[in-house]
Amino acid sequence: MRYDELKQDLIEYSNKIGIDKIGFTTGDPFLLLKERLIAQQEKGYASGFEHADIDERVFPELSMDNVQSIISIAVAYPTKLRDAPKNVPGARRGMFSRSSWGNDYHVALKARAQKLVSFLHERVPEAASLTMVDTGALADRAVAERAGVGWSAKNTFIITEEFGSFVFLGNVLTSIPFEPDEPLEDLCGECTKCLDACPTGALVEPGVLNTQACLSYQTQTKDFMPDEYREKTGHFLYGWDTCQVVCPYNKGINYDHHVDMLPDPETVKPLLLPILTMSNKEFKEKFGYLAGAWRGKKPIQRNAILALAHFREKSALPTLKTLLHEDTRPVIRGTAAWAIGKIGQLVTEENALLEAKKREKDIEVIAEIDKGLNMLRAK
Ligand code: SF4
Repeated sequence: MRYDELKQDLIEYSNKIGIDKIGFTTGDPFLLLKERLIAQQEKGYASGFEHADIDERVFPELSMDNVQSIISIAVAYPTKLRDAPKNVPGARRGMFSRSSWGNDYHVALKARAQKLVSFLHERVPEAASLTMVDTGALADRAVAERAGVGWSAKNTFIITEEFGSFVFLGNVLTSIPFEPDEPLEDLCGECTKCLDACPTGALVEPGVLNTQACLSYQTQTKDFMPDEYREKTGHFLYGWDTCQVVCPYNKGINYDHHVDMLPDPETVKPLLLPILTMSNKEFKEKFGYLAGAWRGKKPIQRNAILALAHFREKSALPTLKTLLHEDTRPVIRGTAAWAIGKIGQLVTEENALLEAKKREKDIEVIAEIDKGLNMLRAK
């Protein structure tokens, strides 16, 4: 078997099955990444969502025996919402970040990666292979960088020359020794737009992200959101796009040629108020197929409350008061109290907060009620 010919066939086949870019690298360890990951942990910049074992992230052979090469795949996704519904007073809407538009990319990329594997096995039946999309041990971006799919940019994303950074990434580990591709030159140059635009300073230096301060991460936590981020997440229900949107390499880019990546405007820019009272079943039916649903209903509901507070949406007050009094989840009761303080007026909302405080046993919720009362009294 001529592996150079197989590689060429694979590149051609990948384009037919909805893969926009493909690159090849060796199965060697990612030793530079190890240094970065250790530094990230030591400085407290990790999110906790990462694969826990650093060695497994660095050494491909810990994921698969006899790994000779790794294939990196990239699929471009849309950035512009066509026919977007209007966000108006009385009918306020939230937003999912672009990475959560269309079908969950884990599923979409895994399907494409599996097709590649089937193609390989038809040609080399004895080959071993393993697919990974985001949730595998290896760092998709480190693989894509070394495989020449794009450069590792100052905003920590992989920027491809053709599609900018709005690409999903996945990997196929294989026992076939494909010729590796060359990494690309870093074209960020003197630009610092992403660092300058980050509202929390989460990009602490070029290519270094303090995930704890990243608004995308903050939208995915399940606990109370720290006060300093509550206003900054604005109307985002999931994720955060600014460090990509401002990048000159993404200017004017909108790849919407994959049907499974197309967003439903009513789903990714949904009305906020109905989210607050959704049942689990309704949540699953409306949002379950999005990547942004992976943490469940509670963070999205908490973020919807914060978004209504951001808009000072008065029509949300009756529902927020009901949540404050009746919801079984402290995070929702407490965030509702805070939002009431943001939106309401002392004469009409003080009693609701005082009543709730009398009954409340959770000290964190009581602290949120006090914040709400202080905001009302300061108006
Ligand atoms: Fe690089 Fe500028 Fe894009 Fe940041 S905004 S990733 S510095 S090109």
